[in-house]
Amino acid sequence: MSEEKDIKCSFCGRDKKETNVLIAGISGHICDHCITQAQGIIGEEVELKEHDAISKNLTLLTPLEIKDFLDQYVIGQDDAKKILSVAVYNHYKRLLHRSDIEDEVEIEKSNVILVGETGTGKTLLARTIAKMLNVPFAIVDATVLTEAGYVGEDVEGILTRLLQAADYDVKAAERGIIFIDELDKIARKSDNPSITRDVSGEGVQQALLKLLEGTKVNVPPQGGRKHPDQKFIEVNTQNILFVAGGAFDGIDKVISKRLNTGAVGYSSAKGREKVDKENMLQYIAPYDLKTFGLIPELIGRMPVLTYLNPLDKSTLKSILTEPKNAIIKQYTKLFEIDGIEFEIDEKAIDYIVDKALEYKLGARGLRSICEAILTDAMFELPSNKEEKKLKVDRAYAKEKVEKSSLKKLKAVS
Ligand code: ADP
Repeated sequence: MSEEKDIKCSFCGRDKKETNVLIAGISGHICDHCITQAQGIIGEEVELKEHDAISKNLTLLTPLEIKDFLDQYVIGQDDAKKILSVAVYNHYKRLLHRSDIEDEVEIEKSNVILVGETGTGKTLLARTIAKMLNVPFAIVDATVLTEAGYVGEDVEGILTRLLQAADYDVKAAERGIIFIDELDKIARKSDNPSITRDVSGEGVQQALLKLLEGTKVNVPPQGGRKHPDQKFIEVNTQNILFVAGGAFDGIDKVISKRLNTGAVGYSSAKGREKVDKENMLQYIAPYDLKTFGLIPELIGRMPVLTYLNPLDKSTLKSILTEPKNAIIKQYTKLFEIDGIEFEIDEKAIDYIVDKALEYKLGARGLRSICEAILTDAMFELPSNKEEKKLKVDRAYAKEKVEKSSLKKLKAVS
């Protein structure tokens, strides 16, 4: 009995009566206090190791290197590339900067809003950044989002997509990039906040806000409400980079109104310059998004704002031929695999670009026009033993396009 009384924790020396639990080992004892402390130390060590692993996997490229990478895949859009490069650089610097280090400066997230017409490269920019960083990437369409309880997809579903893109590796997903397309479609329909209920607008913006703020969110791994008994996975959104894109149709009028009155924002310097009326988006400021119907809190959580230029003829031409995986290069490769030499001349390329402009399909139209021109050849040539060469000139391109269903497309638009 007296022996029992002498038992102490071998780590801190506390007597048994000073502890709640004292666990016996082969040649010693450990008390509950020491267990708790040890657990804390283990937690820190694991976090340190994970952080080291992240640092090792993430080589921090400089903004200039990031832009160089983007240049290989995206044509033009220099302002957007620069601003995005800095935002991404800062985001990952923030990620590598350990928040537990004694430091009162907490670097805030640099979520981005890209404003630009459809088909100008918004998604491509976000996708290319994700490719460069080798982090999970998910695209979600803001139009399908609704507040919880309404028909449509809950905002948490956004994280389900990212989890799926990360093969359910939660740690990887927590450093991923989410592209929210058509952000403009959840703008408040009127600038009057007293509207009673706006299911698809302000409510969704509020719900999104929670994700952007960096919280732990319970995510249904299969998404949706179809699987009511699935177990939730906790995802911390603190280090997820959100990039949102939208055409914001009509925002040019908002910008031009602001510039004319000169009441807010960019007044002095830009105001005195001659305003380029053809491309008002370049003057966009956060205030314009508010006028358009985004709530100030959301704009505040997506502090990096930039724009994309509409694509003109020479840009479309470059898109067709220059990027690393340019459409023409892809077709050349496809034919090459069949041992067919594919050539397309300058005039045919001009024709494709003119058609894309005519059909108002932007860069998206380039591929469908190429398909229309090349489908017959791709169908016939692989089984043709003699013909091992395909030369496409303007006449060939014109004939195929005029024969194809693209004409119907034109009738619709
Ligand atoms: P959106 O601005 O609507 O998100 P996307 O990024 O999806 O447009 O572009 C549609 C397609 O057009 C892309 O797959 C890409 O091939 C092409 N594209 C658009 N803009 C560019 C660009 N600036 N450089 C290279 N390709 C582009």
